[in-house]
Amino acid sequence: MQKPGKTSIQSLLLEEITAYLATRDQRPYRAKQIADWIYEKRVNSFDEMTDLPNDLRNHLANDFVIGGIETVRTLGSDDTTRKFLFRLRDGDLIESVLIPASPALYGQQSDRRTICVSTQVGCAYGCKFCASGLDGFTRNLDSSEIVQQLLLVEKESGEKINNVVFMGMGEPLANFSNVVRAIRIINATWGLEIGARHIAVSTSGLAPQIRKLADEPLQSRLAISLHGATDSVRNKIMPINRKYDLETLLSACDYYASRRKQRLYFEYILIAGINDSDEQAHLLAGHARRLNAKINLIPYNKVEGLEWSRPSRTRQERFLSILREHGSVATLRREKGHDIDAACGQLRLQAKRSEVSGETPKVRTVAR
Ligand code: SAH
Ligand code: SF4
Repeated sequence: MQKPGKTSIQSLLLEEITAYLATRDQRPYRAKQIADWIYEKRVNSFDEMTDLPNDLRNHLANDFVIGGIETVRTLGSDDTTRKFLFRLRDGDLIESVLIPASPALYGQQSDRRTICVSTQVGCAYGCKFCASGLDGFTRNLDSSEIVQQLLLVEKESGEKINNVVFMGMGEPLANFSNVVRAIRIINATWGLEIGARHIAVSTSGLAPQIRKLADEPLQSRLAISLHGATDSVRNKIMPINRKYDLETLLSACDYYASRRKQRLYFEYILIAGINDSDEQAHLLAGHARRLNAKINLIPYNKVEGLEWSRPSRTRQERFLSILREHGSVATLRREKGHDIDAACGQLRLQAKRSEVSGETPKVRTVAR
């Protein structure tokens, strides 16, 4: 479906606002004023930009919109992981997750409030365990739709976000230019001013795009969704591995690691009977050593309609202890409140299914 309407001003970089101003015979310093209204004062209309001349406000209102996505529902309470369901201008649904302060996520400090953002409507990669790919792929989000997830979550929650992970619905590196642009806006001092080291992109293994990202002048972090330490395990659960096998992926990671100071992360969901054997742990530790990567083990979150489940706590701990015996830096997510945090795509799926079945979803509707 074609996206209706005007460009959202939140998809523009400061220099692009400046270039636009030149076409309207306006002074360049106005660009920073406009950015302040959007990202600091958070106004919802050009009319509220009271230090701009009237004719400029009219031009802006004719050429752009502010925002464009709206909150449909939230799920969760203040002290646990909260999910937000948003409707885009063309009616599609996406979701973001706000994870409260907790140790050992992607930032280093424990006082981080992390947002998990979506980058696509659906996902084309069809990992067998994931809710996001179940309905296939609809479209890429544009950069303003990514940036607006942060703005809306801060507005709805009243909290300042200081850590961003691109781990919601979709494959960020398949939407490369919009994701890189969104990172620039999120990171910019005129934008959301979140430090690049507190921004992490996760990929299921798009090897060429990992190399391309390595060449971008960005300091953000990269997480690789490995979920298997051999081709046979990855082939079973991640179709992308048939295109870029493990060695192709790891050598793209070698390249990435050679270009960046920050450590890579390996994401490894533990799925009972699939990837949780001792042998996989030994091999995983070897891959981590090769890349000096940190390993995040995440017990699998059940997805309605899928047969996978998480291993017992004993098995999870055993897997972790093997990694540690090898000297790997590894964490196992144990906090109960975070049970839903890595499973973006589920709220949207629930909402879509209830739209089809006519049931009321088990989520709270936001009062407006
Ligand atoms: N497409 C990217 C980013 C989005 S998925 C990627 O695959 O990396 C973000 C993370 O959530 C990935 O590591 C993914 O494997 C994980 N994930 C997906 N479904 C999950 C589930 N049911 N339980 C736990 N983690 C899940
Ligand atoms: Fe897509 Fe990532 Fe889910 Fe795989 S795990 S289907 S790449 S969102």
